[in-house]
Parts: sequence; structure tokens; C-alpha cells
Amino acid sequence: MDISSASSPPTSRSWRPRRLIATRAARAFDHGRAIIARAEALGIEVVALPGDRLTLALPDDPRRAYAEAKATLALVVAPPSKRRLQPIAPSADWRVDLAEGCPAHCSYCYLAGSLKGPPITRVYANLDEILGSLPAYLGRGTITSRTAARAHEGTTFEASCYTDPLALEPLTGSLSAAIAWFGQWEAEAQLRFTTKFADVDPLLGIAHRGRTRMRASINPRAFARFEGGTAPVAERLEALRRMAEAGYPIGLTIAPIIAADGWEDAYGGLVDDVAAVLAGVAGLDLTIELITHRFNTGSKAVLDSWYPGSALDMTAQNRVTKRTKFGSEKQVYDAATMRMLRGFFERRIADTLPFARVLYWT
Ligand code: SF4
Repeated sequence: MDISSASSPPTSRSWRPRRLIATRAARAFDHGRAIIARAEALGIEVVALPGDRLTLALPDDPRRAYAEAKATLALVVAPPSKRRLQPIAPSADWRVDLAEGCPAHCSYCYLAGSLKGPPITRVYANLDEILGSLPAYLGRGTITSRTAARAHEGTTFEASCYTDPLALEPLTGSLSAAIAWFGQWEAEAQLRFTTKFADVDPLLGIAHRGRTRMRASINPRAFARFEGGTAPVAERLEALRRMAEAGYPIGLTIAPIIAADGWEDAYGGLVDDVAAVLAGVAGLDLTIELITHRFNTGSKAVLDSWYPGSALDMTAQNRVTKRTKFGSEKQVYDAATMRMLRGFFERRIADTLPFARVLYWT
């Protein structure tokens, strides 16, 4: 399919990088050239690199270097190693990356522990190759094959592990193209993405055939100070309702759940807001994923350097060390706090959103 035509013009609220830097290889792809054309039409500076190495001179001052990196979109080619998919339980069977990095400024951002180097967002020009590699993974998932509640979804592919694809959509068109591709794919498969953005206009008219589930990643208004540069939560919920009305299966990623002062009232109000926004939507297919706040030594060091004034608690209070199956360690809430949070959400969701399916708690 022609992936370069699958997007709509950006709205005034869309993210605009200060510059787009494009490698030589990326410029050889139609999708790459379409992204460059959109950037040029918006008056964004386009830097055509002479080769395939990403080069961007950043200031020595770490604050300014962070700001410059965050204001840059790099157009690159995903090498074969990046196109080999990784399992990504419990969210989905496989992780598929359309991009890496995100322009927002969340003071808990999980990318701080996953991506190395300056936080430049990279979008992949070889989208056809990325999508073309997916059929080889069909039926090989670990989630849907063993979970009766999700078996009807087929093999699931998560596009939000290393980016927020909706944040980049007005410039890249990658998410629209992927949704259209899944809509045409005659297979038991689902594309999934979660987002803290709200500009869903380009997605509403796509022939998605119910094969993409959008989840809104949400936190209470009271915690908006931890989510710089994202859309207000009320707009995210409104966007979710519009997607449901356009026939998409939808979901909530309540993440990260933060046990800060007033959390009970704040999250109670959030669940009420969800119920109010989704009231009356016909044929609603709503899932919920519940993810508590966690960090590790590496991500904390990066986040402390990016957001030195953040009020987000990353001390040892109420925390225990949990060892992952890969041998690394992370700081999670202690058992008593976890019990309190989990009990609260289970009760509140059962009372207020009884039609929703909770996929997991972590
Ligand atoms: Fe990180 Fe998501 Fe916030 Fe982007 S929106 S900065 S990916 S947590």
C-alpha cells in the first residue's frame, strides 16, 4: 500500500520539532521523503545529513543539551536488528517500533531507563519493511495463546514501548499507515498503542476493521505536573471516546499509578471522569491496564538530571527492591502500599466501570 498518503495535516496543538535531521539512507524511502515534505510544508528546518551517522552538535550545558535534543526529530532507517521483534508481556505478544523517543517531558518517563544517549526522537523511514516483517510472528505470541480473555485478539503487537506514536503522528503518518495495514491484513492480529496525546483526527476515518486498540494513558489532573508537554487528561479521554465512536476497541492504561498524597481521591475522580466521558457509547470494548510507578538506579539518575526540581517521590520510602527475570533490579512500592492500591482500583473499577476488562496489574 502507499503509506505516504495515510495522514492528515497537523493541528495547531501538534508537536513541532525545531529541526528534522535526515540520514541519507532514510531519504531513499518514500515514507521518509513524505515526512520531510510535511516538515518542510510546516516551515521546520530540515537538515540532510551527508551519511547515515546521526550527528547533532549539542551544547555542553546539560539543560540546554536536553532541550535541544528534545526539540529534534531524526529520520533514520531501522536496521534488521531493530526489526527483530521482542516479546513484551504483559501488554502484548510482540513489541513493534515505528519510532524511538518522545517529545513530552514526564518526570517518571520509563524511556529514561531504556534508551541511551541524548533524548532525540527517531522515526523510522522504512515503515514498509517494519510492517512486512510482522507476518513471521503470527501465532507465535505468549500472551494471547495462554490467556483465554485475550485469545480473540489474535497475535498482539504493541507500538508504544519506546515512543508515543500519536505524539509524532501529524508529522510522520506512521501510525495511520500501520492502522490501515492491520485493517487490510487478513489475519488474527491486533495493533495496540497507548498515548498521552489527543490528536486523533487523522485516525478516525481509517478502515481499521477493529484491529487496532487505542488506550489512553492517564493520570489524575492533580498529577499533571508530572506529565509536561502531554495533552490534558480531559482531552485524552475525549479522544478515546471519539475513537470508540469510530468503532475502535479502546482501553485505559492507568500509569504510572503514583501513591502521592491524596491519591485515593485523585484516582477515584479519574475513574468517575472515565465513566462520564464514555457514558452512552454504543458497543464499547474497554480494557484496563494498571501499572504502578517504578524506577531503577539508572532511570532515576537520568530523570534526576532531566527534571531536577520534580516533586515526584523516588526515595526509598514505601519501596522495596524487586529483581526482574533478567537479573536487573527495580524499586517498586512495598507490599502494604501495593495491597492498598490494588484493592482500591479493583473495587472502584468493579463499581464504576463494571463492563471493563482488567488485563493486568503490575
Ligand atoms: Fe515518556 Fe510517555 Fe511521557 Fe512520552 S508521554 S515522555 S514516552 S512517559
